[in-house]
Amino acid sequence: PVSIMWFRQDLRVKDNPALNAACDAGKIVPVYIYDTDSPQSREPGGASKWWLHHSLHALNARLNGHLQVFKGNPKEIIPRLLQRFKANEIYWNRCYEPWQINRDKALKKTLLEANIKPYSYNGSLLWEPMQILKKDDTPYRVFTPYRVFTPYYRNGCLNASEPRYPKAPPARITYGDVANEGMKIDDLALLPELSWASGFSEQFHPGEEGAADKLADFIDSRARQYKSNRDIPSLEGTSRLSPHLHFGEISPNQIWYAIKERFGDSEDKSIETYLSELGWREFSYYLLFHFPTLPKKNFNPKFDKFPWRKDTAALHAWQKGQTGIPIVDAGMRELWQTGYMHNRVRMIVGSFLVKNLLLSWHEGERWFWDCLLDADLASNSASWQWIAGTGADAAPYFRIFNPVLQGEKFDKQGKYVRQYCPELNALPDKYIHKPWETPPVIAKDAGFVPGETYPNPVVDLKASRARALDAFQQTKE
Ligand code: FAD
Repeated sequence: PVSIMWFRQDLRVKDNPALNAACDAGKIVPVYIYDTDSPQSREPGGASKWWLHHSLHALNARLNGHLQVFKGNPKEIIPRLLQRFKANEIYWNRCYEPWQINRDKALKKTLLEANIKPYSYNGSLLWEPMQILKKDDTPYRVFTPYRVFTPYYRNGCLNASEPRYPKAPPARITYGDVANEGMKIDDLALLPELSWASGFSEQFHPGEEGAADKLADFIDSRARQYKSNRDIPSLEGTSRLSPHLHFGEISPNQIWYAIKERFGDSEDKSIETYLSELGWREFSYYLLFHFPTLPKKNFNPKFDKFPWRKDTAALHAWQKGQTGIPIVDAGMRELWQTGYMHNRVRMIVGSFLVKNLLLSWHEGERWFWDCLLDADLASNSASWQWIAGTGADAAPYFRIFNPVLQGEKFDKQGKYVRQYCPELNALPDKYIHKPWETPPVIAKDAGFVPGETYPNPVVDLKASRARALDAFQQTKE
């Protein structure tokens, strides 16, 4: 018998539970559908489309060119394909975005009515959201203010059953002898027309092999120092696995067990911290599953009337890395040039947008969605709400990152700022994070002309901090 293996956010052959099951059952026809037609679906951003293009090519190569690619609504395409291929089973790994859940439920119903068996699996989470509930059967709302006593992660996940051990790839994949009904991957036209993406491939290689290389490199050379290096944006101290995880080129299970097997159940804080970061990813999915309005509505409704400002000029300055605040500009330029931004800097630029500029977190979420290679509905909306103070387990409203102090703490010699804001290169370390304080003689020597070679700050940090505290305090009351 022939069955359809429907690839979605699991673009890999190893540790793919649905693929294993489909291959155990017989011959398969591997299918991918670029779906922007299902109700409520959200079109991937520009950077994600670039990734998807390359990831589909990589998967197709792994499947010896057998991947059949379509564009449209799966609810129409799948039943048609099942008929064409005379298949009566379909396999997929579950997705957790609200619109995907609705789509899959509706499709499942249609298929069952037609006597077709859909089989679904968990291929992308360590613990599925429905598995982790409080004693009273309601969902956790707090990951942790204190890492060590984490309600969701420590009490919920780590007390639940061990995550599934990764599966070996199918011993043999046999393909159904059917015509290719699909289109060329290139005809999905996912690549940007601008040459914007040229910097992406310097750091990232989409596909299962690229993911495995990144993990091996991290384990061999950086995992042990993760705790001390993860907050330094000029270092590659983190794993950079996020886009690979988003597209399912590697499963969190593969990462979890690769780390555990290499380092044992060590007390090493770096290892524990790294695993708990995977826990944050799980928590984002968990929140999105239990609170499906997370991308659209404030988790805390108190903020529904919050007086966000409208200021197109300030928003553009932020987007283009021209705010006059070096660490913010460096982050926004890193994002634009590489499709990635260091986590510490994501928090700094986020706080600057929602607190100092008092612009809605939705503006930030949208820009990140378009520019991040790892853009992910769950992690992006949960993180933006956390930064804005509107989310679950949110940063308290009075925590407003001071970008100058953050820069001085995490980018002491200004290495990161100098990399992305080369016009500040010759400034002494003392002024690299606050160029507006540079004495004129030193500025002259460094070729720095405030407002000309580099913008003056778009807001006064002290005054905008006071304005934000005031607005947040009023909302709280
Ligand atoms: P590592 O430090 O190596 O962590 C390993 C993995 O853990 C990551 O790949 C990621 O899957 C997960 N992880 C780590 N930190 C977080 C976190 N805070 N929340 C959820 N998962 C986490 N991450 C995304 O994957 N997609 C997004 O769209 C996204 N948007 C963000 C927006 C803002 C405003 C902020 C503050 C954070 C956002 N993050 C997002 C979380 C985090 O910044 C990235 O996951 C991380 O920087 C990816 O780099 P890495 O793979 O080297 O991380």
